[in-house]
Amino acid sequence: MTARVLVVDDIPANVKLLEARLTAEYFEVVTASNGPAALEICASQRIDVVLLDVMMPGMDGFEVCRRLKSEAETQHVPVIMVTALDQPSDKVQGLENGADDFLTKPVDDIALITRVKNLARLKMLSDEMLMRASTSRQLGLTDNAALQKATSVRSGRILLVDDHPRSASRLVDVISKSHDIFVERDPNAALIKLAEHNFDLLIVSLSLTHADGLRLCSQVRSLDRTRHLPIVILVEPGDEARLLRGMDMGVNDYLIRPIDRHELLARIKTQIKRKRFTDYLRNRLEESVEQAITDSLTGLHNRRYMESHLRTLVDESIRTGRPLSILVTDIDHFKNVNDTHGHDGGDVVLKEFATRLKRNTRGIDLACRMGGEEFLIIMPETDLARAYQVAERTRAMVASEPFQVRPDLQIRVTASVGLATLESPDDTPETIFKRADSALYAAKRRGRNRVSADAA
Ligand code: GH3
Ligand code: MG
Ligand code: MG
Repeated sequence: MTARVLVVDDIPANVKLLEARLTAEYFEVVTASNGPAALEICASQRIDVVLLDVMMPGMDGFEVCRRLKSEAETQHVPVIMVTALDQPSDKVQGLENGADDFLTKPVDDIALITRVKNLARLKMLSDEMLMRASTSRQLGLTDNAALQKATSVRSGRILLVDDHPRSASRLVDVISKSHDIFVERDPNAALIKLAEHNFDLLIVSLSLTHADGLRLCSQVRSLDRTRHLPIVILVEPGDEARLLRGMDMGVNDYLIRPIDRHELLARIKTQIKRKRFTDYLRNRLEESVEQAITDSLTGLHNRRYMESHLRTLVDESIRTGRPLSILVTDIDHFKNVNDTHGHDGGDVVLKEFATRLKRNTRGIDLACRMGGEEFLIIMPETDLARAYQVAERTRAMVASEPFQVRPDLQIRVTASVGLATLESPDDTPETIFKRADSALYAAKRRGRNRVSADAA
């Protein structure tokens, strides 16, 4: 990940130090020594994270942050405020001005890298989300509900695993104002809860009396159902070894006790946003893969999918010597249906036709729409004699029951069927398909509403 980090500090030694540490972790670093210069850089180039010193002469960090967050072009750039340890009120003011997280001086290495990585990742995701949003708008999908849900900062569902009653209740007090929080004392019970319900974030105390919080983290990372769940750990001061082990096993972020409520809320917000964005993008990916292989009118597989699947099945049949047959069917005089009942009427017939085909095929058969009113069924492990029975049943199933075009209108529809089977090791999807197609043509010629098998 080569994120571009802007380091803003009026003291050159501070800039140098942060720059060196970030560069060592392969971040690209840009620097500025005052507020106006930082704003100018953010407005003119891609910046993924801003590390912003609070105390600067002239324009202070709060003001820079406020301005960045109030401009449409820069409001999505995450800002980490670098505050002085003895100024807790800085955090309140930072949050009020839109800061996304905090680091205190002197800046700890692990904290620096963890904070920057988390926010750089969030920035990448939000860039992607903004692009999707603009594409949806271009497509006229202004009320894309899924996208809106993903980008709104609504309350998240959080599971806290902590067996110290006082600590747990303090955390609940802070978190419950903005999120739904559930507490579990026992990691095993937590694991069951996580598998059964949808959570946006898991917070695990590493100070459990009878259990190892890190074991829970590792289990959560290895289960399919929870693999992507963000995890934040609560660490005792000085327990750097376990903190690092946690980060190594994929824990997303941490808080050191005593827990600062502003840091807690900031980190929760980042992780929940990240979860929402990745969920959205992952679902979208599945949807678009689905769309690429499905015919939208009938829900059957489309031609593209059929072609690659038939290739696989032909290879497999040639290798194993098992039979393979295909059935091509085309609705008779479909043009008349459109002409008489309109295109919509035609679409209703196509959908119902597809439904009947699906009903008539076994689980391992594959029904696809080739285009127009032509459909194909691939039947593995099926010889020509058996395929003929399927074809005849298909033909009869179309012809025997009228199609309901409108509530008050039923029409009779028939279809012709052509069959072909794998005949020699030299066969290819194209040769088999061609034989089925010429059989179909023969069925049409012989008067339609009939089955014809290729007799090569
Ligand atoms: P034949 O018995 O020889 O197959 O005659 P036909 O009328 O069924 O065949 P032809 O190829 O002449 O006409 C097919 C029609 O199917 C023409 C086309 O407009 C229509 N068609 C193709 N795709 C769709 C679709 O998605 N929806 C609708 N409603 N009609 C479609
Ligand atoms: Mg036709
Ligand atoms: Mg046709």
